[in-house]
Order: sequence, then structure tokens, then C-alpha cells
Amino acid sequence: MKKRNTVLVLGITSILILISVQVYIISGIWKQKNEMFALRYTVLSREALNFMSRRMSTDGFDTVRFLLRKYSEQAVKELHETKDKDELVARKKDILEHFNLYINHEQDLSGMLSAYFSRRGFEKNFNYSIVINSLEIISNDTIAVYRSEDYVNRRSPDRAGRPSPPEVYRSKILVNWFPWEDNNYRLVFDYFIDFSNQQKMILKEMAASLGMSTLSILLIWIMFMITYRNLKEEKRLSNLKTDFINNMTHELKTPLSTITVAGKTLEMVQIRNNDAKILETAKLIGKQSVHLNQLINMILEISMWERTQFQLEKRTVEIEELMNDVVDSFKSGNGNGASINQKYNFSGAKIDLDVVYFTTLLNNLLSNAVKYSDKEPVIDIEGFIQDNNVCIKVADNGIGINKIDQKHIFDKFYRASTGNIHKFKGLGLGLYYVKKIAEAHGGDVTVNSKPGKGSIFTITIPY
Ligand code: ADP
Repeated sequence: MKKRNTVLVLGITSILILISVQVYIISGIWKQKNEMFALRYTVLSREALNFMSRRMSTDGFDTVRFLLRKYSEQAVKELHETKDKDELVARKKDILEHFNLYINHEQDLSGMLSAYFSRRGFEKNFNYSIVINSLEIISNDTIAVYRSEDYVNRRSPDRAGRPSPPEVYRSKILVNWFPWEDNNYRLVFDYFIDFSNQQKMILKEMAASLGMSTLSILLIWIMFMITYRNLKEEKRLSNLKTDFINNMTHELKTPLSTITVAGKTLEMVQIRNNDAKILETAKLIGKQSVHLNQLINMILEISMWERTQFQLEKRTVEIEELMNDVVDSFKSGNGNGASINQKYNFSGAKIDLDVVYFTTLLNNLLSNAVKYSDKEPVIDIEGFIQDNNVCIKVADNGIGINKIDQKHIFDKFYRASTGNIHKFKGLGLGLYYVKKIAEAHGGDVTVNSKPGKGSIFTITIPY
């Protein structure tokens, strides 16, 4: 138990460590892929801007510049005419909005970039954002219309003299920083792009490595579960074997001690002159020797089955006749005190069977029905043909079997917990034998039982 728990804890811990390592590696790759993605589109956009300025002599804002030149002349006038402080604030806001509108709606950069990306075989659908950092209207004096706080407080310029982008735009790709100066205004703005399906695209790129990593964790989990199960099964088998040795010793000892006592009895002087007593004791020795022999044969046979296949010696028999014979001889032997009812509907069916094995099968079921009973045993045997099968049901009014034991009673050496306290003697081989014999005939055995209510064993053999 302790060993099993250690294996369980160690196994689960190592799998958890493995999963954390995988998550750490994957998240690292994810971050790297995102950076690579941004880098790829930054380089591409720079190329596109170069291409545009070399080949088309434009930066994609020609119309905007034209419109802003006109508008800024009017803005200068408006600002100079406005004296009231509140009105001035409102006017500045209005000017900023106009500038915003013009650069957002009249620019051609987005279309040009999209065409360039598409031509180079990259994703062409992106969102753009233009962020005005500072706007000043200039005539005789300079009037600051707007300065983003971020622009004022920030920003260590990079090597190209471009200030680093504001925090909220860090996840987006900065295509360019535009510092413009015209007769009537000074404007600084950033142009960003981002892809709504960026995560999807990266996920697609990573699909193989993600799949492999999930698969490897899954395989390791399955391997661990198999190993753990084997360990549990090994433990169960070793327990069963120990139980079997205890039970076998007990089973063998009973006839052996009877024989020993009988031998001692025969040595006694008063017995030697009593012919009837001698005969009785000799019969007892004979009976116990047969029992002992049966037990040993059973164990030998089981060990032989492990090595070789079942060798059936089949012959065609009338099933009803065979059933009657077996039940009759059981009644006069082990089943002496039991009341046994038989109901057959075989319609004279004949079937190929190994009579010896089949008799053992039936005897095992009948003797269990008597053995596992805490009252006067009543056994109902039913036989009929169904779906090309010979079906035989053996029902008893015994102690019954709980659901958990029902799963194992056909296993070798298995005894239900009630059987292990030596109230009911046995080796846990009877039903294993029954199943093996039924299977060797191409059939099967099933059980239906409720504790305290009795059990029904059903044998089916192809007809
Ligand atoms: P054994 O009788 O030697 O223990 P078996 O293989 O015949 O071995 O039976 C396995 C277990 O199934 C028994 O220990 C017993 O608990 C249970 N069992 C078998 N037949 C019956 C029955 N008719 N009623 C109740 N329990 C049964």
C-alpha cells in the first residue's frame, strides 16, 4: 500500500512538473512568436514606406497635407479671433477633431500598405490607429492646441530620434512616427497597425508543437496509469495467492487430519476386535483419501491449463438426459439435504459436449449453491434453447454475492470476503473452472445475484 502510494505521488508530481515545464516552454515560444510577428510586419512596413517614397514619391498622406494646409489657415484666423477663455478651449478641441478626421479619413497609407503586404504574400487585413501626439497652430506666435501627456512626459527617443510609443499602443505595431511642420501648424502623430487574427495566425504556426507536447503528456499519463494499474493488479494477485495458500492448507489439512485420527483409531486394541468399527474407519479413510485426491487433481489440472490448451473429448449427448444424470448423482452425494427442482424445455436437443468437464461444471455450480447457503438449500434448475444456445440456469436461495465480488468471482483463486473466513471452505477455483469449461465449449457463464436473496448462474453453450 505504502509502495503504491509512493509511486502514485511520485508519478503525479513528475507529471505535474512536466506539464509546468511544457507550459513554461510553450508560453516562451508564444511570446517569442508574437515578437517575431511584430518584427516581421515592422520590417515589411518600413520596406513598404521606402518603396512608396522611392517609386511613388508619397508617404500616403498627400491629400491630408493638402487639406490640412487649407484648414490650418482658417484655424489660425479662428484662434486669433477668439478671446474668451472657455470659447478658446472649445475652439481648440474642434480644431483637434478636424485634424483627427482628416488624417484618419483622407490618408492612403492603409490601402497602400495593404496592397504591398498582399503582393508580398502576407496577411493584408489589419486595423490601423493614428495617435496625435502634439498639435500646434503657428502664425505670429505658436498656440499649442494639443499635447498628449504621454508625449510631454515621455519618452526617450530611439536612435532615429523617434519617441517610444505610448504604453497602450505597445501591443500594436508602430509603422511610422510622423513629425510634420507646415506654414500654419506643427503636427506629430504615430501610425500603428494590428491584426485581429494575430493570435489565430500564431496558434496555427504553433499547432504542430502544441499538438506534440499535448500528445507527449497524454502518452506519459497513459503509460503512468498502465504502470500503476499493473502494480495494483500485481498486488491483488499476490494477495489472492496468499489467500489461496492459506485456503489450500486448510482444505488439505481437514481430510489429512481425519485420516491420521482414523489410523490412530485402527491401532487401538478395542477396535481391532470390532469388525464393524474397522469397516467404518476404513471407509472413512477411503472417502477422505478420495477427497484429498480430488483436491490434488484439481490443483494439478489448473496448473496444467496454464501451460496447455483445454483438450475436450466431445461426444453427442441428449442434454436433458445428461442433466438428469448429473443432478441425480449430486442429490445422492453432496446435495443430500437440498431440495432441487428441475424444469427443462430442451425438446430432445442433442449437443456436442465433453461429458466429464460438463459434469464438473454443473457439480461446481450445484455444490456452491448448497455451500453458500445459510438456510435449507432450495435449488431451481432451468434449461431451454434460446437463440441457438443451450441455456442452463442454476438459482439458489443462498447468501448471495455483492456487486463488487460479482466482478471477480470467476477469477482464479478469488474468494468473496465471506468465503475467506473459513466458515465456507474452498480454494477460489470452482467458478474459475466453470468459466474455463464454458468458454472451451464456445459458451459463457454469467451471474445475477443480490446479497441475502440468492444467486442465479446462467450457462450458455452454442447449440
Ligand atoms: P470457492 O467456493 O472455492 O471459494 P468458487 O470459485 O467456487 O470458489 O467461488 C468463488 C466465490 O464466489 C466464493 O468464495 C463465494 O464467495 C462466491 N460464490 C460462488 N458461488 C456462490 C453462490 N451460489 N452463492 C453465493 N456466493 C457464491
